[in-house]
Amino acid sequence: METITRKSLLNRSALGFLCINHVQGCSHGCLYPCYAFSMARSYGRARDYGDWRRPRLVANAAELLAKELGRLRERPGYVHLCLTTDPFMTGWPEVTAMSLKLIGLINSKGIPVSVLTKGKLPGELADRGRFPEDNIYGISLVSLSEEFRGRWEPGATPHAERIEALERLHEAGCRTLVHMEPYPTPNLAEQDLGEILGAVGFVDSIYFGGWNYNAEAGKYARREEFYRERAGLVRRFCAERGIRCESGA
Ligand code: SF4
Repeated sequence: METITRKSLLNRSALGFLCINHVQGCSHGCLYPCYAFSMARSYGRARDYGDWRRPRLVANAAELLAKELGRLRERPGYVHLCLTTDPFMTGWPEVTAMSLKLIGLINSKGIPVSVLTKGKLPGELADRGRFPEDNIYGISLVSLSEEFRGRWEPGATPHAERIEALERLHEAGCRTLVHMEPYPTPNLAEQDLGEILGAVGFVDSIYFGGWNYNAEAGKYARREEFYRERAGLVRRFCAERGIRCESGA
């Protein structure tokens, strides 16, 4: 796998929390479009879509992180992996190995992590000897259709495998999350939200959000009403099962 080196790794995101992004690019190549790709292209970190899909691992990530964690004045609530790449990128075991190493490093300072992936969460995360119970493991999931995945998330792990890996961690007692954003408007994909929720009804938290940065989604005439109704459905589903619910729609 190609590598790069960086000068810093632990960053405070615009959303206010600390995060690490130890890979440049992402082979998942999401076409919603991917905000991280748009930013990378504007700042010259990716020439084009093909270049973005060739991930480069930050070879000095562990050294940088160890130094930066040591310099923190106060202990943060958590560190997030990742905002501009995917920590469990499909088909890249080097990325998975590095992510596990970095999570272990963060946890060794008494700081939990939150993880979000469109890949397969590794079973090692259930190992209580290595990772504490306050880590949160999440998958991004907005559809159960493989046709949808092929069109919008061509390099990501099939939905069923994402869910299966998440459920395995749930069964082992880990805290789990589903991030349902960008949920498609019906002109992009006709689907049954109840069926998707039913497939992930075991989780501890669900986040639901609409589809931004796409002109086609904006063209759907009943967009606001649609998202209001769907967010209500998610809230009711979560309330009935004691699942923590957040909505950005
Ligand atoms: S998984 Fe995330 S970072 Fe990777 S291409 Fe998709 S949206 Fe972008």
